[in-house]
Amino acid sequence: MLSNILEYTLFEFEDEIMRIGEKKFRAKQIYGWVLKGVDNFGEMKNLPKGLVEKLNEHFTIELPKAIEVQVAKLDGTRKYLLELSDGNCIEAVFMKYKYGNTICVSSQAGCKMGCKFCASTLNGLTRNLTQGEIVGQIIAAEKESGEKINHVVVMGIGEPFDNYENLYNFLTLVNDKDGLNIGMRNITVSTCGIIPMIYKFANDFPQVNLAISLHASSDAVRREIMPINDKYPIKELLIACERYVNKTHRRITFEYTLVDGKNDRIEDAKALAKLLDGLLCHVNLIPLNPVLETGLKKSRRDNTNAFLRELEKRGIQTTVRRELGNEIDAACGQLRLKK
Ligand code: SAH
Repeated sequence: MLSNILEYTLFEFEDEIMRIGEKKFRAKQIYGWVLKGVDNFGEMKNLPKGLVEKLNEHFTIELPKAIEVQVAKLDGTRKYLLELSDGNCIEAVFMKYKYGNTICVSSQAGCKMGCKFCASTLNGLTRNLTQGEIVGQIIAAEKESGEKINHVVVMGIGEPFDNYENLYNFLTLVNDKDGLNIGMRNITVSTCGIIPMIYKFANDFPQVNLAISLHASSDAVRREIMPINDKYPIKELLIACERYVNKTHRRITFEYTLVDGKNDRIEDAKALAKLLDGLLCHVNLIPLNPVLETGLKKSRRDNTNAFLRELEKRGIQTTVRRELGNEIDAACGQLRLKK
């Protein structure tokens, strides 16, 4: 049985290489090629022929396969439907921002969190993605687009803190100077608020940015749209956030998707400002990307603007997320769902 190199950490792969009687330094050489998108040992120019044969006997290089690419001509957004080796499909999105090229990666095939507005959770969780399948999304997108990616957000399909071990190895590999060498501060992980993992994450990755999907300012509304709130209610979540900030001194981002008539009134903005008062944070208002099956509607433009102004007036740093790739099915999970 051949094993996929991308499923090893760099350390583990060094052991594997020594186990087949080769010098340790070869591991980083080979892994480096794999991360550049070379998926054939014969094309790794600095390897002796004997080694190439040996590698073929023991290992494979499996990358997610782009079976659909939607390109938004206006802003250069590229949305990928990627097929994994077992036939499962996931999505990744490449986006161009002023500060650089960003990829949004998936952490699971499906999701079990059940947020009411989200397409990714409609069919539940199929399985966790492996480290190699998460990093493979970056490699596949770089290869297809010919662009170098220097920012990573884990905000695609799935709940990253529900797949912590693989997320851990993924983040380590992405950051490693012999891996993708992307700075911790250029990486953001978004969670629906799994509190024990927030504490763990603060210890393990104090320099990686944390985004919390809040989406409501009261438990009554939040539990309606985010079932996870029953387990981890707002008050406890915000205590965890406060401890996170005390430990890491990093500003937290709160994501707040505005749903018409649900959480977008001025009173909601006032309550939100009160909740976040004094916390080192920033609110990112997300215009709802309507998913037919959910029946929820996007907040009206004037309500969105009023919400923004109210938060700003109360001293909360707020931005409205740019709607990239509007011409394509950009809502997370919509391509996979169609498939
Ligand atoms: N599970 C993680 C990361 C994936 S979702 C989390 O909950 O944070 C990434 C972000 O997109 C979350 O803030 C999520 O609530 C939001 N989102 C999901 N579906 C959306 C939709 N249809 N419109 C707007 N935002 C959505």
